[in-house]
Amino acid sequence: MTQNNPILTDDFGRKHNYLRISLIEKCNLRCTYCMPAEGIALSPKKDLMTADEVFAIAQTFVQHGVNKIRLTGGEPLLRKDFPEIIEKLAQLETEISITTNGILIDRHLDVLKQFNVKKINLSLDTLVPSKFNTITLRNQFEKVIDNLHLLLNNDFKVKVNVVLIKGFNDNEIIDFIKLTEYLPVSIRFIEFMPFAGNQWDRSKMVSQTEILNQVSVHFSESNLEKLQDEKNFTAREFKIKNYLGSFGIISSITNPFCDGCNRIRLTANGKIKNCLFSNSETDLLTPYRNGEKLENIIAAAIRNKKKVRAGMTTPEAVDNPLLNQDNRSMIAIGG
Ligand code: SAM
Ligand code: SF4
Repeated sequence: MTQNNPILTDDFGRKHNYLRISLIEKCNLRCTYCMPAEGIALSPKKDLMTADEVFAIAQTFVQHGVNKIRLTGGEPLLRKDFPEIIEKLAQLETEISITTNGILIDRHLDVLKQFNVKKINLSLDTLVPSKFNTITLRNQFEKVIDNLHLLLNNDFKVKVNVVLIKGFNDNEIIDFIKLTEYLPVSIRFIEFMPFAGNQWDRSKMVSQTEILNQVSVHFSESNLEKLQDEKNFTAREFKIKNYLGSFGIISSITNPFCDGCNRIRLTANGKIKNCLFSNSETDLLTPYRNGEKLENIIAAAIRNKKKVRAGMTTPEAVDNPLLNQDNRSMIAIGG
């Protein structure tokens, strides 16, 4: 393996050892902040990576220093060949994790255990069943909660992703943190981000400062512990004294963490996205199918990466719909 090979290092010295692969554009939920109300134009099946192609392209990245792969989507567990994909990727020298809405966890529990997929990020934006239906447009709250407990009972390392939206779930921040008193989970509050068709505006976003204010008032400053952030962190980590679990805040909008970014994304139709906020994409699947070597193409995509949020360095740029809507919807990127 060529560790830290320059092809995965950008002009700012950031080494990209973390590949996030979207396996599918479809989903069994319709989260309104992710999936536009009118739906998205799906790629024809022939344009999506097969299990073998996912493996081959991932292998190229691993040969050049990637040692973490996260599978996402759409809903990655909806792929009928999910077990086959995991089995193939497990041959690579890399950690594998998934981000899922949790609905199909019970169906795939055995394969996750068999191939040592221990880290699961499960998305759950509310603890109130009727609100779950409002935000996801589907009636699956109980299934998700059951599967969350199934994961914890089977010793998976679970992070719960909560996208905070003002007036919808900002009154549940404390309830989510209370879950960490007895459950070994990390709750990750995510600032709502703008993507094509998701009706974002800054007033709907709940900022890191607002979250910490609520927490300090409720639990008192002296019970709030700052934890050591992970290397290349996205979430700034905290816990309440003597609680089993912890919580983190992913503040891509108000306090971006681009300096330490080590992430590169591959969409289900085989395009590199060098930043979540970037509208520019580099096709890898077509050259792969044409038998071309991928290294130079990957290197060029990495070199094009901007220092901060795809060049949206100021709050004004983030707020500008001409910039923030000129990107795929989140469901087609993979978070
Ligand atoms: N379906 C899986 C799930 O929901 O976990 C994986 C794909 S989903 C696109 C990945 C993550 O992106 C989820 O945690 C979701 O909450 C988050 N996400 C989607 N749209 C977002 C937005 N507009 N702002 C912030 N996070 C968002
Ligand atoms: Fe589906 Fe995940 Fe997007 Fe919700 S956030 S619509 S579960 S892809």
